[in-house]
Amino acid sequence: MTDYKNLIDGKMVDNGQWLEVLNPATEQVVGRVPSCGKEELDSAVAAARRAFTQWKKTTAEERQQVVQGIAAAIKENADELYRLLTSEQGKPHAQAQQEIYGAAGLAAAQSTLTLDDVINQDDDTRLSRTRRVPVGVVGGIVPWNFPIMMAIQKIVPALVAGCTIVLKPSPFTPLTTLRVAELIKDVVPAGTVNIITGEDTLGPLITEHPDIDKITFTGSTATGKKIMEGASGDLKRITLELGGNDASIVLPDADVEKVAEQLFWSSFSNAGQVCIAAKRIYIHEDIYDDLSKAIADYAKTVVVGDGSQQGTGVGPIQNKKQYERVLDLIQDAKDNGYKFLTGGDKDPSGTGYYVPITILDNPPEDARIVAEEQFGPVMPLMKFASVDEVIERANNSEYGLAGAVWTKDTDKGVEIAEQLETGTVWINEFMQLSPFAPFGGHKQSGFGAEYGIDGLKEFTYPQVITVKRDAAV
Ligand code: NAD
Repeated sequence: MTDYKNLIDGKMVDNGQWLEVLNPATEQVVGRVPSCGKEELDSAVAAARRAFTQWKKTTAEERQQVVQGIAAAIKENADELYRLLTSEQGKPHAQAQQEIYGAAGLAAAQSTLTLDDVINQDDDTRLSRTRRVPVGVVGGIVPWNFPIMMAIQKIVPALVAGCTIVLKPSPFTPLTTLRVAELIKDVVPAGTVNIITGEDTLGPLITEHPDIDKITFTGSTATGKKIMEGASGDLKRITLELGGNDASIVLPDADVEKVAEQLFWSSFSNAGQVCIAAKRIYIHEDIYDDLSKAIADYAKTVVVGDGSQQGTGVGPIQNKKQYERVLDLIQDAKDNGYKFLTGGDKDPSGTGYYVPITILDNPPEDARIVAEEQFGPVMPLMKFASVDEVIERANNSEYGLAGAVWTKDTDKGVEIAEQLETGTVWINEFMQLSPFAPFGGHKQSGFGAEYGIDGLKEFTYPQVITVKRDAAV
């Protein structure tokens, strides 16, 4: 077991009080991290404030160089990092590798983004120019499903925009983030990036801190509402990336054999703990029987187990609370007599938070497993008859994060996509995010954007400067 320290003002530090972090596959402690409160937060915010006075004056090229250094540090240490990530998060090694290399790639790509001035008016009367000014010190709060990707997608745009940041990982998955902190300690100027750990109770202290200018949050909708409330005291800027209940719509012309495997992974990658996983799959009645059987047959070939073991396709649920929630959803489906194509029958006792791959056969629209975000390896397949009907069912959700349409007729796919009330819709793929395209939710999936120029703008405010050219002074 290793102790991991926090990064505050360019130094790795601890306060002598520790939180233990479990491996969800074994329920054994894999590491300890500092348990911080107000005092450590105040030091981190003060360091970020001091660093901001210099960092905001750096050029785009200087920031780019620093961010590329972060990307390189992650990439060079990817082997160590992905193993550590699996040991705390549970995801299979291959998926942990994807996350680590993905985070390095995201940092490298986003380092190139710039916010150029915009000329609003340039004539004999007046020169009017909009410049984007960094907001200041950012508080970043991230969840446990993609700890490194989420940390990087907050740290990098903050730095690129000219802000400094205090980041809080989830208490369930802070280890890899603190190892990255150690690796970038000498890459970033002291105080620009601070990473501190603590229980959930550290979150509201960040949200309400008087010297933090903006909160960027990824997590559940319930916590997002508390963040909004906490940030309202001094009207902090907020970006909220929250939950989702994404619908996949499969039209009758889709090739059953080809899409079955892709649909499976669109739901079960990271054991279903992905905000943009397909959480409801609507299949046209003409191909429902064949496709549901093909998905269930494929599911039977996928191994559920310890992510560090070769051959594992689906790892454990990341933590006990979520594990119990997913088991409760399965129990609810059983109690209501819904039909299972796979899963739902295994005794979940024993070591490790394992849930069998569970696929439900056409449960009703008001079933909890359809209406709620499951965030686990449980997928409902549902039958539909007409496009209008399925669009209405897909949109009948408090969430509006993403969705997908599967069809050979991509024009038809786009026509359906344009009627879905979500921030992202994929045609014939899933979970593809571009560093250059905005990603964000609608309805209770949050607001604001990450990624791309829109995401970068969230770390700035527009300042308009006008020069009167024909002034009588
Ligand atoms: P969570 O909301 O429980 O926790 C997220 C973070 O918030 C953690 O760091 C936690 O310590 C902190 N926190 C908890 N209470 C807080 C409070 N009152 N004030 C401030 N911070 C607080 O979420 P989770 O269970 O870690 O993550 C799962 C959820 O995240 C799912 O709903 C999922 O859909 C969502 N998610 C969304 C996206 C997206 O981009 N939209 C991405 C990943 C996960």
